[in-house]
This record gives sequence, C-alpha cells and structure tokens, in this order.
Amino acid sequence: MTVVRAGRLVLPDSVIGPAWLRVEGDRIADLGAGEPATCDVDLGDATLVPGFVDLHCHGGGGHSFSDGPEAALGAVAAHRRSGTTTSLASLVTDTLGTLEHQVRDLAPLVADDELAGVHLEGPWLSSIHCGAHDPALLRDPDPDEVDGLVSAVPGAVRMVTVAVERQGGLDAVRRLADRGVIAALGHSDATYALAHAAVDAGVRVATHLYNAARAVHHREPGLVLALLEREEVTVELIADGIHLHPAVLRDAAVRASGRFALVSDAMAAAGAADGSYRLGGLQVAVVDGVARLVPGGAIAGSAITLAQALHHAVHVAGVDLPAAVAAITSTPARVLGRDDVGRLAPGAYADLVVLDASTRVRRVMRRGAWLDEEIDD
Ligand SMILES: [Zn+2]
Repeated sequence: MTVVRAGRLVLPDSVIGPAWLRVEGDRIADLGAGEPATCDVDLGDATLVPGFVDLHCHGGGGHSFSDGPEAALGAVAAHRRSGTTTSLASLVTDTLGTLEHQVRDLAPLVADDELAGVHLEGPWLSSIHCGAHDPALLRDPDPDEVDGLVSAVPGAVRMVTVAVERQGGLDAVRRLADRGVIAALGHSDATYALAHAAVDAGVRVATHLYNAARAVHHREPGLVLALLEREEVTVELIADGIHLHPAVLRDAAVRASGRFALVSDAMAAAGAADGSYRLGGLQVAVVDGVARLVPGGAIAGSAITLAQALHHAVHVAGVDLPAAVAAITSTPARVLGRDDVGRLAPGAYADLVVLDASTRVRRVMRRGAWLDEEIDD
C-alpha cells in the first residue's frame, strides 16, 4: 500500500487539492481532498493526473509497431516513459497478407495488456488523401477482406479507419460496428452528407480531424464539419504545432468539448533523435522533429509523445488544463469502452502521471509501479 500526496489531483469532473491517493496492488484504492493522515510519497506542489491513453500511435523510441513484437515493446516503453500507459498500436497501409501477419504479431501483446489493441489505418483509405500511405496499396473495403482481417485474431483489432466514399465503405462501417470494432472515418474525401450517413451507420471516431481530409468549403463543408457536429463522434487532434494551427486546435476543443482526443500519431522518431526512418514501406526523414516522406515531402505522422501534445495544447493553443488532460485520458478511454484506465477513481488501475508547474511529466506509475525515478528533459 502506498499513499501519495500531491498539490492537486485532476479527477474526471473536478480538480481537488491538496489531495491524496492510496494505491493498493495495481489499483487505486481510495482518494480524497485535504492532507492525508500518513504519507509515503509527498509530491509537494505537483499535479497528479491519470496515465495517458493514446488512440493513434505508430511507434516511438526508434521502433515501429509494424516491425514485430520486440519493436512494439520498444515503442510502448518509449511512450510509457513519458506518461502514455495505454496505447493502441496503429498499422499503416500494407498488403492484406502483411497486415494479417502484423496483427498476429501484436495480438499476444494485446492479450498481455501491453497494448490496448490494434488500429488498422488502411488499406481502405482515399488515394487523394493518402498522406503517408502507399497509394498503390489502397483498396475498396471488400466485406470478406474486412471480416478476414478483423477476425484474424478475435479481439486484437479495436479500431479501423475507413474512407467511407470507397465502394462498400458504409457497409464496412456497419460490419465493424456490429462486431464491436470502433469505426473511424479519415483519410477521406467524404462530403458533408456522406459523413453524416457514416455516423448514422456507426462511425464513432474522426481520425486526425482536418488532416488528410477533404478541406472545409463554404458551399460543401465536407466531413470535418459533419464530424464536429455529431455528439456521438470523438475527434482526434494532433497537437504537435505542425499538423494543426493552434487556433484550429483551440476552436475544435471548444466545438467538440468533452469529445476531442489528443493523439500522438507518432512514428518511430517520437522519443528518439532526428534521422531516417521507415513508415510501413515508405522512407521518412525527420528534421527538427518534423517527419516527412522521402521523396514527396508529405507530413508522415508526428514525432511527439502525448506529454508534448499536452504541453502544446495548454501553453501554445490555450486549452485549459482539465480539458487537455481529459483529452488524453478519460475521453480516449471512453472511446475504448474502458473505465479501468484514464481516470483517477477508486477501482481504476493505478496509472499515474506527475506533472510539474510547467506541465512537464516528472514521474510515471503504471499498474501500481513507478517506472523510473525523476525524469529530466
Ligand atoms: Zn493518418
């Protein structure tokens, strides 16, 4: 048993402080406002928030989720050090055979609770909004192919991004929703009307809203405005200062209040140095923390962690701290249907992040165990 005292605790609906939290085993046993009767770890003025939950991440620490289980564990560890205690593993477009192989590679890590599931970003995407996906491998979502990939290992695939304007797109969304797989809309040229139809069919997540999507036009607002309007939809936003202007991030945070999730969309360079990397079969150069395809120059994911997204959202875009914290904890946890992660509450896993006065991550606890001592950055 460990009693932790902090200047503030960010709870699902309030901020209390000073406050304490008692950890027993891998769970939060209890918490409350005021000074604790006894205290094992005094965090002084620091703020305690839940461990972060990332819905969209391709890798980190020099490793990609598409490169097998050992690389996947390396990527998980890199993000965990900076506070992300729950991750989906996103796979970029590849051949169906290769993707099935990758899902089978990652499935044991899902079963072992190292990963919260696999996210298939492709191959059923728009070729005109392909971003860093190999356009030659993009295809229509044939029902048998969708079923085959999603059920290759039952329970392993948790989310699939679909461009619903492709032949069979809406049917694919219905099939995914029927199977309990989260249907996401993105890398898409869907119109405003079609995007509404897609939400009616079961879409519940907007994959990196604004990026790799039909642009907003005053006569045809496209999928972006439709997805912002629908209360059922959680919108992913990449808060790296490159994918979205801070004003767009701030605006989306207001319009999708309580249902925007900051995602890293990180490739291997997150938590690692600039240099040459691969994303699926494509070559990527990271210069000054910006990842671009070689050749072509399209932005190829980010090189950030959620800790950096939090800092950017609060200190550059001006999102208030509780809203920004919810966007990397309780909101994505709700998308995953999880109430045991993403919140400070009795019964939830003891996944804790210690933030200093400038919103930098200082310590991380996962499942009741501190990962490292103080983090220097
Ligand atoms: Zn993408």
